[in-house]
Amino acid sequence: MSNLIQAIRGMNDILPKDTHRWEFFEDTVRDWLASYGYRNIRTPIVEQTDLFIRSIGAVTDIVEKEMYTFVDHLNGDSLTLRPEGTASCVRAVLEHNLLYAGPQRLYYYGPMFRHERPQKGRYRQFHQVGVEALGYADADIDAELIIMGARLWRELGISGVRLEIGTLGSTESRHIYRSRLIKYFEQYRDELDEDAQRRLHSNPLRILDSKNPHMREMLAGAPRLLDDLDEDSLQHFEALQRVLHEQGIAFEINPQLVRGLDYYNRTVFEWITDKLGAQGTICAGGRYDGLITQMGGKPAPACGFAMGIERILALMSEIEIPSPTTDIYVVHQGELAADFAWKAAEWFRNEGLNTILHCGGGSFKSQMKKADSSGARFAVIIGDDEAKEGEVSIKPLREAAEQVRVGLVEAGPLLKRI
Ligand code: ATP
Ligand code: MG
Repeated sequence: MSNLIQAIRGMNDILPKDTHRWEFFEDTVRDWLASYGYRNIRTPIVEQTDLFIRSIGAVTDIVEKEMYTFVDHLNGDSLTLRPEGTASCVRAVLEHNLLYAGPQRLYYYGPMFRHERPQKGRYRQFHQVGVEALGYADADIDAELIIMGARLWRELGISGVRLEIGTLGSTESRHIYRSRLIKYFEQYRDELDEDAQRRLHSNPLRILDSKNPHMREMLAGAPRLLDDLDEDSLQHFEALQRVLHEQGIAFEINPQLVRGLDYYNRTVFEWITDKLGAQGTICAGGRYDGLITQMGGKPAPACGFAMGIERILALMSEIEIPSPTTDIYVVHQGELAADFAWKAAEWFRNEGLNTILHCGGGSFKSQMKKADSSGARFAVIIGDDEAKEGEVSIKPLREAAEQVRVGLVEAGPLLKRI
């Protein structure tokens, strides 16, 4: 029996053979966000438990069953590993009074934690990029957030992602809708699963978000919030659709889109793929005009979305992404040679060449084997002989070309040319 300690179920290591794919994604996303003027905000991974209960809502999957909550035994505080990023982002914005300077376009990136049943596309530690536009009331920002998404899929080389949009209206229109919904569900009481029975009166909208296939047919016949929509929300929704049409962004209206968190109103949207089975939503978001007041801030509208990076990378698994290359592997033997090799390696790095300096000694022959398996394009060979003259020998490893010996000063420019 091995007594090695293993990682926690549903929390994955990301190994060097895959990290270049993450880095490609991160680099693309950083440039994409900068191109729309969004700025990065970084908040702690752990927050007071109350932050999430107050923002996400007590009767939601996340708060009811998915949070990693624990007592800090040193002071008795109840803390929670963040299950999502909006709550922390809004907390930080209020704590540092960022809206005082005007509306904010922000984004965050990092791990989130939810105690779910691990399966493909669903993990206990997963990663999100979240984008939040705070202090904007009009539908133009909702449109911007959606248009940005469309651009990102193009930049990442992802195709076949469809857009669903919906609206949750105002608090008042949701209130009217709520009673109609309860009436409808009461007729089908026996078909409701345990979660739905429990939520029937506390949070009936949440039932629409159920993943239970046995309830799907009954859910399809449920009344639509669109029919109870207030005039302002309707206009807002139409303004959004107009921009999307005008900008050539295809979408479907899904009247049953509710989202798993309580804080949304008006616009909600999801980007969905059919290529990942049941875990098909790669990006989801919407408007949350009430959240900032709910968290104790001065009223300010806001809109945002979060995307699941594991799911996006899974969609990109067929796309070839080059890993970083090594230009030079420096082999050396003898004390004089070693001293010169340190200097030569730094010299090459100054020239912008990725250089591995052989460490650990050994014969030239064994060092050359390592040079070869490193994937480097060139071996730079330094013996005491070369070192004395301030020279290096260059051996191309990927093509049948002659070894040449040149002064260190000429070597960098020469290697960059070939
Ligand atoms: P789902 O309906 O799949 O449970 P959700 O509504 O709980 O998703 P959000 O809270 O909106 O998800 O999170 C935004 C995105 O983060 C999701 O669309 C998904 O891509 C990703 N995501 C959410 N939970 C997980 C998870 N446990 N593992 C991996 N990705 C996740
Ligand atoms: Mg979920």
